[in-house]
Amino acid sequence: ASLFSAIEMAPRDPILGITEAYNADKNPNKVNLGVGVYYDDNGKVPLLECVKKAEAQLMEKAAPRTYLPIEGLAAYDKAVQELVFGADSPVIQEKRAVTAQAIGGTGALKLGADFLKRFSPNAQVFISDPSWENHRALFESAGFNVNNYPYYDASTRGVNFSGMLNALKEMPAGSIVVLHACCHNPTGADLTEAQWTDVIQVVTQRGLVPFLDMAYQGFGDGIDEDGKVVRRFAAAGGPLFVSNSFSKSFSLYGERVGALSIVAASAEEAARVLSQLKRVVRTNYSNPPTHGGQVVAITLSTPELRKLWEDELAGMRVRIREMRQAMVQKLKEKAPGHNFDFVIQQRGMFSYSGLTKEQVGRLRDEFSIYAVDTGRICVAALNSRNIDAVVDAIAKVL
Ligand code: PMP
Repeated sequence: ASLFSAIEMAPRDPILGITEAYNADKNPNKVNLGVGVYYDDNGKVPLLECVKKAEAQLMEKAAPRTYLPIEGLAAYDKAVQELVFGADSPVIQEKRAVTAQAIGGTGALKLGADFLKRFSPNAQVFISDPSWENHRALFESAGFNVNNYPYYDASTRGVNFSGMLNALKEMPAGSIVVLHACCHNPTGADLTEAQWTDVIQVVTQRGLVPFLDMAYQGFGDGIDEDGKVVRRFAAAGGPLFVSNSFSKSFSLYGERVGALSIVAASAEEAARVLSQLKRVVRTNYSNPPTHGGQVVAITLSTPELRKLWEDELAGMRVRIREMRQAMVQKLKEKAPGHNFDFVIQQRGMFSYSGLTKEQVGRLRDEFSIYAVDTGRICVAALNSRNIDAVVDAIAKVL
């Protein structure tokens, strides 16, 4: 027998499987709502103008490709901190926050999970039910036991907040709680400010370790508005982990640009934390790649490019909101007995549409419209040319 003879086939990634089926479909009117990517109104992944300009500057400089520091480009890490915590944040001024450039948001989560496994090996990890499917896998692969806390309530199409809060109150001290800072994936259902107040209070009182995952800053209510949750947690004073990603907000998916930030109690503690975080990086991939980090750092620190980015991101946010509104409006006409108003309340790229697995199957088989079995649709894949067909098909399968 060879080394590999007993290896079983790993399960297929369910979402990539949808795209494979979509690619094989010959219907010219096919629509892929299964993705987690922003498409513009022409159905294309945009290359942002701010990115083009930052890249032109980089080309002009033609700098040699030396290694970056283990924790990444200093200008990038600084820009990340200011974006995530706010430029005037006390945790920056007091040097209590440390940041490492990471291989996307996924890499940031992995760094955080590996770091936590070294220094809090017996902690329980809690993720929302449901959550981004990689949360569980990432923390399990770092060696943690991963549990769910209640989150989505299908009957109200909103958050089961009392269930969530009660679960937080029962978690053992030191438990790691993964929270979506904004634009919850997959449901689109976010907490209100008042609900966050309660969550922060319980997390702080019970000595839980909050791990905020922010993959969609700027896609909810605005860059600062979406970052507010992070700032409120930072002000609460306990330890804090924040993973963030520029995959969506800069449309830089394949460049793998993200970061992990950790807030400690003092500058001295933070220095020790960073030294250990660097060991995690060093033993995983040594140091991060240069290009994406430079593009983001140049864009965020050059006023003209920064303004351009903010406008382009606002354009994506507004277009998604328009698609939510158009979908609800059109469904009112085509499916008068059904109330889809919740779609407007949801935030970010996704909507838990309420479609059942069977209805999703009919959309696929009868109309070549692809969604996730849970009913998750990517609103950012709707556009002025496909929305009527999508709404007509939904009305027919309801
Ligand atoms: N967290 C959440 C909630 C996500 O939806 C995603 C995927 N977009 C990530 C993290 C990972 O982001 P990235 O593609 O930058 O690795």
